[in-house]
Amino acid sequence: MSKQKSYLILFLTFLLCLLPYEQIFAAGYIKSKEKSKLVDIRKLDKTIVIDLRYATKNNFTKKKIYPAAVPLLRKETAAKLVKVNNEAAKKGYRIKVWDAYRPFSAQRTLYNAASNKSYVAHPSKGSRHNRGAAVDLTLVDRKGKELLMPSAFDDFTKRAHRNNPGMNKTAKKNMDYLTSIMKKHGFRTISNEWWHYEDTNWEKYPLLDVPLTSFK
Ligand SMILES: [Zn+2]
Repeated sequence: MSKQKSYLILFLTFLLCLLPYEQIFAAGYIKSKEKSKLVDIRKLDKTIVIDLRYATKNNFTKKKIYPAAVPLLRKETAAKLVKVNNEAAKKGYRIKVWDAYRPFSAQRTLYNAASNKSYVAHPSKGSRHNRGAAVDLTLVDRKGKELLMPSAFDDFTKRAHRNNPGMNKTAKKNMDYLTSIMKKHGFRTISNEWWHYEDTNWEKYPLLDVPLTSFK
């Protein structure tokens, strides 16, 4: 290698070090191209209850993380969710969504605000929410009252773990029912947040940083 080339590589490495490291590792995120691939859940099914907690101060950070309350998912993921809601309707239940698509930049804000980092995906990897392929939800009855579940949303303790041996029986029954209809229509679970579901095809979808305000 020529001396000039070596200097060039050194210089480029130096430039790379000036970037925030999460931008280096998650350089694959897309700013606007994929906007059309996201859909507002309310447009597909008006009966799904929306309570985007990060668009309010009613979340674990006590801060408004999202500048707009727009519940978005990948079109394919949203279509699956509508199927789940239709199935729940047979029992007189509806889905209540707490979080859906989360812009990549909001992931950084959320991560920095979290005291227990083990519950929020590191910005270097991004979250499946950043792909529009994950949804946080629960079930409500005909009156809109939440069914008893293992814990409140974003309860970052063992109470939120799916295998918590001390779980209330009714809460377990409700969680198992929600799990069964979500799995039936193409979602999978994670072990430490009973409310979190992700599209089984999440890997197909890229990380996005399309701002929520562009959908208002
Ligand atoms: Zn989640």
